[in-house]
This record gives sequence, structure tokens and C-alpha cells, in this order.
Amino acid sequence: MNYQVLLYYKYVTIDDPTSFRDEHFALCEELGLKGRILVAHEGINGTVSGTPEQTEAYMAMMKNDPRFSDMIFKIERHDGHAFKKLKVKVKPEIVNLSLDADLDPNETTGKHLSPKEFYEAMNQEDVLILDARNTYEYDLGHFKNAIRPDIETFRELPDWIRENLSEHKDKKILTYCTGGIRCEKFSGFLVKEGFEDVSQLHGGIITYGYDEEVKGRLWDGKCYVFDERISVPVNRTEEETVVGKCYYCGEPEERYVKCGNPDCNDHLLLCEECEHEHLRSCSSECKEHPHNRYVKEHAVQSEV
Ligand SMILES: [Zn+2]
Ligand SMILES: [Zn+2]
Repeated sequence: MNYQVLLYYKYVTIDDPTSFRDEHFALCEELGLKGRILVAHEGINGTVSGTPEQTEAYMAMMKNDPRFSDMIFKIERHDGHAFKKLKVKVKPEIVNLSLDADLDPNETTGKHLSPKEFYEAMNQEDVLILDARNTYEYDLGHFKNAIRPDIETFRELPDWIRENLSEHKDKKILTYCTGGIRCEKFSGFLVKEGFEDVSQLHGGIITYGYDEEVKGRLWDGKCYVFDERISVPVNRTEEETVVGKCYYCGEPEERYVKCGNPDCNDHLLLCEECEHEHLRSCSSECKEHPHNRYVKEHAVQSEV
């Protein structure tokens, strides 16, 4: 069945996030939406799925609220819901960059480039294309020649930048992330750090993939997403490229699984053979973990 997945965010002051959360949860539940919405004093960040009627009603409702009247919704099609549940949570930030100082993207942020402007900028010489996502997201797909920060979570990015890119403050920097929200704060951080020319991809990779003119050009592989779809296509021009590789055998692979050790949960690109051989684990410790999920699911005996 034809469902829609909405991705959206807005940095705008929400005075009482807790009561907003309660009301918002009730409204979404009544509409029949599923998904994950983060609410903070600084704004809202959500991905929800539902039928076209449900999602249209949600967008209309949000646009009636002056705080969200100009919010941009990225809309994707999907067979059925992309989530199992509806979760609306209050958080200190809508994306966790854990900066020392508070940073309001409405005051300090990089230039917003449309997909076409971003594409043209990527073709210039002497630009640094900087992926603002985690390594496991990068490893499934990324812009050609993009820098891969060696980080497990977004919070680690500021330190990584200080250690690795401080000598490039005069370069033109192009940052991108899935839906644009991480770049709002991250590009503001770069401006504050003294980078002279910072731009970000407006609407993120998702918008870039849907743009009629650029059609996802210069993107290799797929885009990791945080719902049951795991990944979505981006480049609609060239023959599809696969950049993901199986963690063990190195064969092209786009299938992400979580390490079988419930205390580890590392994201692993694994082919089915290696998944079986290594009991879906990232290490021998995880393989031998007494609660290994792969062992439980398949009722296989670990050869220990
Ligand atoms: Zn393999
Ligand atoms: Zn593990």
C-alpha cells in the first residue's frame, strides 16, 4: 500500500516542551501516525509515516501553527509504515552536538545551498566536501570525494574537526547530512571556529535525491535512514553504484545489521554468509556473548 514518510525539523522556541510533547503525541496517535519525534526548547525534529490522508492532515495541522507554518516537509513513498511505534520524546537538543556554548542556528549558521548550487559548488576546485554523519552512514553511500570524519556519533564531530581540519579555515567548506538538520548546527559551529566560507546542503541528501535537475548526481551508493527502510536510493542518473562492503569478506554489500551482542549493537555491513559464520557479531567477544541474538533467533549452537 502507498504510504508516505515525512522528514522535517524546525529550530524555533517551544516554551513548554513537556506539555507540547503530550499534546503532540495525542494528536499524532489520533491521526494514526507512527514514527519518532524529538521535542526540545530549541525546536522539533521528526520522521513519521502514515497513509497519504494521515500525513496530509498532519502537515495541514502543523502549518496552521504559526511556529511551524514555514516548515519544509520532505515526503517519500513507502509500502506501509516505516516505523513500528509512535514515539514523541522531550530532549535537551533536537540533535545532540554537545557544544560547550549554546548555538542558535537562527543566528549563526552556514550559507544554505539548493541542490543545484551545492552540485555546482562540488564541481569547483579547492573545495572540501565534509560529511556531517557517522562513519556507518558514510560507508553505505556518500558524495564523491567527501571527507569521512572518523566518528561514531555526531557529538564527536567538533573535536574531530579541531584535530583534523584546523589548517583549512580558508577553504570553501561544503557540509551535508541526511535531512539538513545536523548541518544547521554543525555549519554554525564551523563559522564560530573561524572557517571563512561555510555552506550546507539545504534539505539534505533526501532533497538532493529528489531534485529534478541534479537527480542525485555525484552521489555514490545509498543513503542510510533511521527507520525500518535502513537505506534509500539517491542517485537517479547513472548506473547504480554500490560502495558498501561486507565487514568480513569485503564483497559489495548494502545490508546493515546490528551486532548480535545486545550490549554492543554496532552497525555492521554483513553479507548473509558472513552473518551466519560470525553469528552476526563484530568480534569474537560479541560472537560468544551469552545473549547473542543471532544464536537465539536461529537456535544455532555457538561453537564455543
Ligand atoms: Zn561477507
Ligand atoms: Zn559487537
